[in-house]
Amino acid sequence: MKTDIEWMQEAIALAHNAGKAGEVPVGALVVCNGQVMGRGRNSQIGNHDPSAHAEVMALRDAALHMGNYRLENCTLYVTLEPCTMCAGAILNARLARVVYGASEPRTGAAGSALDIFSNKALNPHAQITRGVLAEQCAQLMQQFFKPKRLNLSPLREDALRPQEDWFEGLPNYPWEPHYVSQLPSLNGLRLHYLDENHESAQPQQMTYLCLHGNPAWSYLYRKMIPVFTAHGHRVVAPDLIGFGKSDKFKKASQHNFMFHRDVLLEFVKHLDLKRVILVVQDWGGLLGLTLPMAMTERFAGLLVMNTTLATGQAPLSDGFLSWRRWCRDNPDFEVGKLFARGNKHLSAAECDAYNRPFTERGHRAALHAFPPMVPELQSSEGADISARALTFWRDEWQGQSLMAIGTQDPVLGVDVMRNLHQNIRNCPEPMMLNHAGHFVQEHGQIIAESAVHHFKLPHS
Ligand SMILES: [Zn+2]
Repeated sequence: MKTDIEWMQEAIALAHNAGKAGEVPVGALVVCNGQVMGRGRNSQIGNHDPSAHAEVMALRDAALHMGNYRLENCTLYVTLEPCTMCAGAILNARLARVVYGASEPRTGAAGSALDIFSNKALNPHAQITRGVLAEQCAQLMQQFFKPKRLNLSPLREDALRPQEDWFEGLPNYPWEPHYVSQLPSLNGLRLHYLDENHESAQPQQMTYLCLHGNPAWSYLYRKMIPVFTAHGHRVVAPDLIGFGKSDKFKKASQHNFMFHRDVLLEFVKHLDLKRVILVVQDWGGLLGLTLPMAMTERFAGLLVMNTTLATGQAPLSDGFLSWRRWCRDNPDFEVGKLFARGNKHLSAAECDAYNRPFTERGHRAALHAFPPMVPELQSSEGADISARALTFWRDEWQGQSLMAIGTQDPVLGVDVMRNLHQNIRNCPEPMMLNHAGHFVQEHGQIIAESAVHHFKLPHS
């Protein structure tokens, strides 16, 4: 006679088959007098059948095999704690015994969420044995759900993928990664983004779409995100291709203005973002400020920090030109040091977090590509669309706006921002942050708090 463990191993093999077929990996086995009477695995998706749980499939198989809908004296082995439906089916089949592996805290009906089998009103009872090979059964589930969440799309040959362990132990960045690669412009590249409070059904919920610039990543928004979410709002913060946890082009020449703009447009449509408050700074604005005119119905507000629209109509600022020169002359500059220099209040670990995406030298193409990509002449790529965007903000923008300026910024500071301010319709007097430099978000908590009180949906 085989032991419970040996039977459970057979159930696990069936669970593997379910997983390979794209089903949640649960397997079940009906055994009577040391003989297998029926086998089943999850088949809800393949069979278009909400009741096709592994247990039900195994019970059907056994009943057919035994020529009897009553399976008295039989034992059901299943890798996961049965749900209420399956518990009902088990009682109807009058099984003598149920042996399961992992518990299911959310839906388990054998003691976790509720306990059908100990309910005296329901007769007859099956004897329950819990936790046989529980670890192995639970691991099966975890492994199945992990790759889905990480979206392990194959890496393009012309791209690099930052390693997961580069990002271990980041201070104040507890958020789950999300990935998308099926946008047409991405053509298989994997883009990382944060998506917090997606599930919340708050009627007044808005979506804060936070766009970073060069050489930052979504880490830059870690002080603002908790404020937005605490007020019930959704936060979506992508890492541009070439930055953060997103895939990186191998060559700087693969980057161009319209590519990044198209990705963002498709990204907003793909997630079907609505009631969006656009939060931008640096390249987040150079690109992001060109988005709402293409999809006005999705955008309700603008929170704009040190950035600009480069139309090629006026010369680039001296501050920017010297930054561009500096990047060219110091191609291997350390990103963390740059943050440390302008933000004395950051810890060493926080500055180091900005280095993580560039742990390997080959990953630095975007750092080289972005400064020369700012449209300089009217003929430069992106200049046209930026000029069109400027008109949109000045004459057509219907949403609310808020501007915050880090006054210590030598590149996109007060002068540049005052100029932009004149071109944003109904933008109130800016918040001036006298301790903040270019990376205004490093003082972002107070800005985020102002924002959640400033941006209100119109009462309908
Ligand atoms: Zn079930």
